[in-house]
Amino acid sequence: MEYTLLGAHVSTQEKSAALQHRRAVSVSDFIRALPKTQLHCHLEGTLRAESFRELAVRRGVDSARATGPLEATYAFATFRDFLLTFAEVCKTLQQPEDYARLARDYAAGAVAQRVRYAEIFISPSVWTYFHRDLDVLETVAAIRSALDDARASAGLEVTLICDLTRNFGVERAFETARLAVRLARADLGVIGIGLGGDEANFPPELYAEPFAFARASGLHAVAHAGEAAGPASVRAAIEVLGAERIGHGVRALEEPAVVALLAERRIALELCPTSNRLTGAVPAGAPHPIDALDRSGVVCTIDADDPELFSTTLEREYEIVAALCGGERLVRFARNAIDASFAAPERKRALHAELAAAVKSLETNPR
Ligand SMILES: [Zn+2]
Repeated sequence: MEYTLLGAHVSTQEKSAALQHRRAVSVSDFIRALPKTQLHCHLEGTLRAESFRELAVRRGVDSARATGPLEATYAFATFRDFLLTFAEVCKTLQQPEDYARLARDYAAGAVAQRVRYAEIFISPSVWTYFHRDLDVLETVAAIRSALDDARASAGLEVTLICDLTRNFGVERAFETARLAVRLARADLGVIGIGLGGDEANFPPELYAEPFAFARASGLHAVAHAGEAAGPASVRAAIEVLGAERIGHGVRALEEPAVVALLAERRIALELCPTSNRLTGAVPAGAPHPIDALDRSGVVCTIDADDPELFSTTLEREYEIVAALCGGERLVRFARNAIDASFAAPERKRALHAELAAAVKSLETNPR
């Protein structure tokens, strides 16, 4: 049975969880206890500011960010500025051991936030842009090994998606797609390709061939779109690239036909409220469109994008969404992330069961 709460369909289970947590559990505790699936997080964007500064010194990177005030380490003003900040982070990550440490820190943070399954982005074309001699296979193996340790010790499963960087051009994107296929065949947990970087100047259509190649080779395809460009970019990511999920996609709302396309095809959006605000994808003063998108029938999920660069956490993003949409809809967004993941069906069933058990436990054993 479905209730209509605030105009949105909310299942009995969601409603019951909502009522219960209002009565007995704070929204923060509710969020902390929810098992989570993470679909839009860049590994490099999880490097803590302190670690960045330490690495910059150790690796001899001359960066004003590393020597200025700690709180200004990752300061940026525009989306292009943000891309440069991301690039600077990659400049400090020079050796496989740096990436292994990064992956260990990521996993510890994910486990602490009850992330149970994650598909995270890596950007090897940015790594090798700065460090031509970096052995990518060895680096991804080092990341894999750190992530496997987290699986053994805490049950966290993490797979990897190779982001093709738009602004390096099509040929480089093709090289990265070929690399992703090699990494997948090397059994390093790479399951797909993504498309990131300068969306405003490099539209999805340019990358049709690398995406077709990767898909034909058995990889999944996702793409950032509707972040720094409008709804046509979202449509092209779906229709030309075959993207199975869209990173952000907030500007789809400018074109009802694109919203309808997302809803009809059940193509999930990976929404990252703080990122969307700070990069200008959502204008200052405007409400984040997750509420409107969810009400339009689009499959919405919540993530943190580059949490350290944006001074946020996955839990914090859930809190922002709870304030916008009400805590009751968080369970649906968490379920959406499981459904929209590329996990095997049996893994999805287990994740759903774990989520349902946690919600039930919050109902019956409030803390
Ligand atoms: Zn992203």
